[in-house]
Amino acid sequence: MAKIRVGVNGYGTIGKRVADAVVRQPDLELVGVAKTRPDYVARRAADRGYPLFVAGEGNPEKFRAAGLPVAGRLADLLGRVDVIVDASPEDVGRENQALYRQAGVRAIYQGGEEPDVAEASFSALANYDAGRGKRSLRVVSCNTTGLTRAAAVLLRHWGVEHWEATLVRRAADPAETKRGPIDGIVPTLDLPSHHGPDARTVLPELSIATAAVVVPTTLMHVHVNHVRLARAPAGAAELVAAFRASPRFHVFGPTEGVDGTPQAMEYARDRAGHGAATADLMENVLWERGIRLEGRDAYFFQAIHQESIVVPENIDALRAMFELADGPTSIATTDRTLGIGSAGTTPRPAVAASRPPVP
Ligand code: NAD
Repeated sequence: MAKIRVGVNGYGTIGKRVADAVVRQPDLELVGVAKTRPDYVARRAADRGYPLFVAGEGNPEKFRAAGLPVAGRLADLLGRVDVIVDASPEDVGRENQALYRQAGVRAIYQGGEEPDVAEASFSALANYDAGRGKRSLRVVSCNTTGLTRAAAVLLRHWGVEHWEATLVRRAADPAETKRGPIDGIVPTLDLPSHHGPDARTVLPELSIATAAVVVPTTLMHVHVNHVRLARAPAGAAELVAAFRASPRFHVFGPTEGVDGTPQAMEYARDRAGHGAATADLMENVLWERGIRLEGRDAYFFQAIHQESIVVPENIDALRAMFELADGPTSIATTDRTLGIGSAGTTPRPAVAASRPPVP
């Protein structure tokens, strides 16, 4: 079967990762990426051999002056693809919508857009089938993806009566030097925060209330969760086992020395190229010691790598949209090709063989 031809418009934190992930899929082809500025990220696309198109107000002459090859403008890219993944900044996706419609291409938007930008909001573990055959989908934000993945596990096993979550949010992505705070804790004063309603765009029946604070870190978000389950698990070990058994979860054990997000990201960097495709951490990260149960009340922390968690969801959204596979098959293919869930052990034998003998 011919591969689905994919373009990426907006080649920043999310777009560059989605492009790299598309290239690894057996049923998708990356036709090109569109960028507004000829910066170091544009150079990254050229270095990888991705055809580079100029988006928005971007000037092709500036790209050429920077020594970057230009394959055309966004309209040229739209003429060559079946679907565009829009990863432009918040609210710009909405502005781009008319261009995609005019070109007759399907579109995937990101969580920074309002839900009504697309026919459905999408999170692979929670509502893959809602994406089937759609012409437009919105992959929900990093925090909402984390919440809806965990909800999918809890709903499947025990049901959820009500969930209270506090989201400790990173202030900025690592490259965003103009954002803050760099000192202080900033509560999101709108209560409850928008994350609960956003989770319900994926799981309409989910009873969830969220609050959020922003803290000076760039690595990950952390969610502090209290869920009253509909039925009681036999014990906390059953909760741990359910999270461990689910795709897209990584549960650190009590002896691994992972106190918080710094070691979690260090773990991800260490396994890059050793099972995992990248230094990202696309799984929900939990700590076994931080999963507790009292009757029907489950408590757990989870950390979310905001820069990458939505990447596999974009790939699954593409497969759902074109009905290339059912949910479990798509999720398994995405995870295998990106090394998600890898314990970081694959290429060991070659290293061992080249080691000098111990005297
Ligand atoms: P980003 O700023 O890192 O990247 C956006 C890119 O789009 C930049 O390269 C920018 O130059 C480019 N751009 C600007 N105007 C454009 C236009 N008119 N047309 C095409 N490209 C344009 O942003 P990001 O963090 O990758 O966020 C993209 C989307 O993903 C947003 O909706 C955001 O809410 C969502 N999202 C971000 C994160 C995160 O933590 N970074 C996580 C999940 C979802």
